[in-house]
Amino acid sequence: MEFGTGCVKVTPAHDPNDFIMGESHGLDFINIMHPDATLNENAPESYHGLSREEARKAILSDLEEQGFLEKTEDYLHKVGYSERGNVPIEYYLSDQWFVKMKDLASPAIEAVKSGKITFHPDHWTKTYDHWMENIKDWCISRQLIWGHRIPVWYCRGEDKDRYQMECSEPVVSIAQPQACSVCGSKDMVQDPDVLDTWASSWLWPFGVHDWPNDSDELKKFYPTNVLVTGPDIIFFWVARMIMAGQEFCGDIPFSDVYFTSILRDEKGQKFSKSLGNSPDPFDLFEKYGTDAVRFGIMLMAPQGLDVLFSEYRLEVGRNFMNKLWNAARFVQMNMKDGELPLDEIDTESLDLPERWILFRLNQTIDQFERRMDKFHFNEASKTLYEFTWSDYCDWYVEIAKTRFQSGDEAKAEAARAVAVKVLKNILKLLHAYAPFITEELWASFKSHDEPDLIVSSWPSKTELTEKMDEIASMEILKEVISAVRTIRSRMNVPPASKANVLVRSPNGSAGVLKEYESIVKSLAKVEDMTLGESIKKPDHSATAVIRQMEIFVPLEGLIDLDIERARLTKRQTELDGFIIQIQKKLSNDNFLSRAPEDVVQNEKEKLADMEAELERINSNLEMLS
Ligand SMILES: [Zn+2]
Repeated sequence: MEFGTGCVKVTPAHDPNDFIMGESHGLDFINIMHPDATLNENAPESYHGLSREEARKAILSDLEEQGFLEKTEDYLHKVGYSERGNVPIEYYLSDQWFVKMKDLASPAIEAVKSGKITFHPDHWTKTYDHWMENIKDWCISRQLIWGHRIPVWYCRGEDKDRYQMECSEPVVSIAQPQACSVCGSKDMVQDPDVLDTWASSWLWPFGVHDWPNDSDELKKFYPTNVLVTGPDIIFFWVARMIMAGQEFCGDIPFSDVYFTSILRDEKGQKFSKSLGNSPDPFDLFEKYGTDAVRFGIMLMAPQGLDVLFSEYRLEVGRNFMNKLWNAARFVQMNMKDGELPLDEIDTESLDLPERWILFRLNQTIDQFERRMDKFHFNEASKTLYEFTWSDYCDWYVEIAKTRFQSGDEAKAEAARAVAVKVLKNILKLLHAYAPFITEELWASFKSHDEPDLIVSSWPSKTELTEKMDEIASMEILKEVISAVRTIRSRMNVPPASKANVLVRSPNGSAGVLKEYESIVKSLAKVEDMTLGESIKKPDHSATAVIRQMEIFVPLEGLIDLDIERARLTKRQTELDGFIIQIQKKLSNDNFLSRAPEDVVQNEKEKLADMEAELERINSNLEMLS
């Protein structure tokens, strides 16, 4: 025999597995302990009153003394510890209160199966079904100080020791009963146990609304619609609220349950107080701002997946809040005489960029609502992020800036009205994610008769005659402006220098550029723009192709060609040298086998970056040749 003695002790009163075995084999359940874990009269007399630790030592020394001890061996095993007392847990046979669950579970299973209650994400339905269909009776009594006291009273009759009652009649009552209904004794004592915390919490959906009184409050708020909680308490809480609601109120407590993602640290461990791996949210609020933390976390938490927490995402949140704040301040600074524009906008009279941003706002509201309806909060936050950052701040506000500075008062006024309208709708959509910043900004843009943002109406779409070609035109403008900006930055053009642009395009296809020349000129810092079917590519010019248009930016006069050529050639030589070095390293088996994986990975990334830069430099040099 490799392990053990070949004998197995079975103690049904002191081990959960032995308990089951004892029940199925009709064994005696001998409890050898007092409630304080000292040994009782069922143990041999010399051990009475000893603690379990003392008793074990005494037994060992008795065995040795009487010559029964063959040998002792050290053996590592697992013992459950009490988190509160930090002592080994001793199993002990005791009377507890149980709730019979089978009958409660059936309607709760049905409520989810029939779709009356929907889980988001729905894969939790399977977990729920499995547990509910194999449900065990629920032990609801706890031997703790805090909690709702069990509403059961015992008659002590003449005997003052609770454990040896003569009249053992228990009475269920919230208030102390006057007298025992069997023997008439007035000596009634309440069960010292309290309810399991979840046996209080499962009453929560109606318990907080004046239940069991049939109050107006209860009628208004029960049942409610959405429960938001963590999937780790799907059984402790969610399933039990569904059971309690149907049992006590005859109806489901809520129609939808949204299970949040669980944040974990970068090693994948759940944040916990005892591990000490959780950042203090208040420190994060202090560092990034409360709204930035909320929004950053929503951006990184896809529905149904756990999230590895990273502070980088909070930076993204903070940058977004700054971007919104600055855009709003800019718009506010450009109000005429500090007055808000009128809410009513004649959309038919608007110009392309204004119609485009209102159209994009409509699309964003649609997409945002669709995602919200599916409880896809993370995707909804991305929709909002992209629209606000790119369409509104990067494009529309920049265009509005050219309007404000144009001297054309009608256009400036239309831009003000549209900029404010779109911004107010962004604030409404964003409010649940960033309540503080949005409410603060709202105060600067709301009209006198509008309420605070938190109670304002949900965004409504602007009525627009749909002209899809307008959207396409605006996309062309954006692409051309981006192309010229890219060329400027690639060729190291000083920000203050204005470029000339030539566009070769088939007949008529560049009409939108002609029409909105002023926008292109202002956003891409262009001096002259020439359009035509038969334009020749000027010497030393950078090119880009957008749709059917070829765009040329002559570099002569814009940058010093000789200096730029020299700079690029120098960098080309440097890169050639670096690349050879890294390639050598990466083909060295010795390095590959010894270096840590992340070091090798780092070298590979460096190589890829340098090769990409070299490619850019080669093509830049070609343009200059
Ligand atoms: Zn009695």
